[in-house]
Amino acid sequence: MSRRLVLTILASALLLAGCGQAAPGAGRVRVAVSIPPLADMARQIGGDRVTVVELVPPGASVHTYEPAPRQVQFVSEAQLLILNGVNLEFWAPKVIDAADNPRLQVVYTAEGLPILEQEGEEGGNPHVWLSPALAIRQAERIRDALIAVDDAHRDAYEANASRYLADLRALDEEIRSETSTWTHRRFVAFHSAWVYFAEAYGLEQVAVIEESPGREPSPEYIAGIVQVIRRYDVPAVFAEVQLPTKAAEAVAAEAGVPVITLDPLGGVEGRSTYVELLRYNVRQMTQVLR
Ligand SMILES: [Zn+2]
Repeated sequence: MSRRLVLTILASALLLAGCGQAAPGAGRVRVAVSIPPLADMARQIGGDRVTVVELVPPGASVHTYEPAPRQVQFVSEAQLLILNGVNLEFWAPKVIDAADNPRLQVVYTAEGLPILEQEGEEGGNPHVWLSPALAIRQAERIRDALIAVDDAHRDAYEANASRYLADLRALDEEIRSETSTWTHRRFVAFHSAWVYFAEAYGLEQVAVIEESPGREPSPEYIAGIVQVIRRYDVPAVFAEVQLPTKAAEAVAAEAGVPVITLDPLGGVEGRSTYVELLRYNVRQMTQVLR
């Protein structure tokens, strides 16, 4: 057998391995994503061209969870790492270093967006994805990043993104219409996750229960929040599914208002997509702010 023929056969075998004949997932772009909302965007835009793995699993708080060794292993074999940025992923430098993957492209999707200042947080408040208008910008960066690592499937990414971005614009309009009818516009958050959402829809965060992640509020601090709730006639206290609700319940009980549970991350049944997640939170808020 000539050398050229052997090479041709090898090349054909490699081509086949990249097509539908191979095992499920083979030939797909491996994409590691920090949080469920951004992972959903990568799936919507990547479609069947990508295998997406979340580094912060559903139910975990992004402010405390650090990726496990098997997740770092996935990053070491991935082409793309999609992050929010603005210091949300405090573990990013460590994970990128440990993955030791020279072909890995890292994308910080919130970089360059209008970041709101946050006391005690270097670089500002990271929760940009909770404003659909800013989430659209993040989705566009995810589209561009997928094209950058897999230009052969540019048309598919562009078509998926165009459909998905239209969904996000419709979601933004839907929330604008819903929130515009609310009679209450001030809220007390558990932590300052909703400031971009508030800015987008004309709401105002008047206090946060947990000033910084993991720090228990003092009795004096709680008493101060109760005063704020009374002064502004705030109808409820927001808690979050990923974080302990004890402090929120204490504040609510003292102020005589209910606790409403919000979810800034999702990734679970009923709010596994970004669109479902935002709709869930709007439904929860509507119960008390309408
Ligand atoms: Zn947060």
